Amino acid sequence: MEQGSRPKIVVGNWKMHKTIAESLEFVESLASMLQEGHGEICLAVPFISIPAVAKAASRHGFLIGAQNMHDSEAGAFTGEISAEMLVDAGARHVLLGHSERRLLFSETDDFIQRKVVRALRSGLRPILCIGETEQQRREEQTKKVLSAQLNNCLAGLSPEDVSRTVIAYEPVWAIGTGLAATPEQAEEVHRFCRQVLAQTWNEQVAQTIPILYGGSVRPDNIDAIMEMPNIDGVLVGGASLKPDSFSKIVNCLTMNVT
Ligand code: PEP
Repeated sequence: MEQGSRPKIVVGNWKMHKTIAESLEFVESLASMLQEGHGEICLAVPFISIPAVAKAASRHGFLIGAQNMHDSEAGAFTGEISAEMLVDAGARHVLLGHSERRLLFSETDDFIQRKVVRALRSGLRPILCIGETEQQRREEQTKKVLSAQLNNCLAGLSPEDVSRTVIAYEPVWAIGTGLAATPEQAEEVHRFCRQVLAQTWNEQVAQTIPILYGGSVRPDNIDAIMEMPNIDGVLVGGASLKPDSFSKIVNCLTMNVT
């Protein structure tokens, strides 16, 4: 696939922020600030807001996603939520393997792999998050860590299924720190991820799959990030919480669509 021909995607990760009323207000406000021809916009919102926000967002062409799910179809898992429930509520995407889930809730690659499979079988598009810690980067383990995360979390998937996922490279040291990876650092990793995907699956998968960058993306660094040929969009935490900053990011991708 030629440079620039992959679709551009912006995902907002709201984490544990916003009531339903605040979310609905955000959607209307964001819609009023967007330019024509923007790429795909997905907001990963708290579970409880999904039905109302999905309905409101559909009027403006945004997609709504979730931030997590369980790997089982159903059962005695107090406090958990299934893929089927998310689809029923209006979710189209689900973030899986976010570093906060890995670090704070001890999620393993195996567990994440089972979630990826369940999400795909249920009609949800997984956004698989991978990324190295600061220590792993310092110890020059970045490529080893990322290839293991990719191969483990997508293990056993067919090329077609891998092509239906989105990868988000999120260096752990860049999340919420204000210290984004340089565009060159991110580009090097994205290129490496495509090599791993080509080796384990095939070149077509590697060239088709969208790879997003996440970690302290802001209106003032989005232009430089999106100039990189292997970066197909961004996953945005803090700057997705305000319509003003998020719309600036989305509108910049509009201009980068080729
Ligand atoms: C995230 O949590 O996925 C993230 C990218 O956060 P931030 O943009 O705030 O660094």
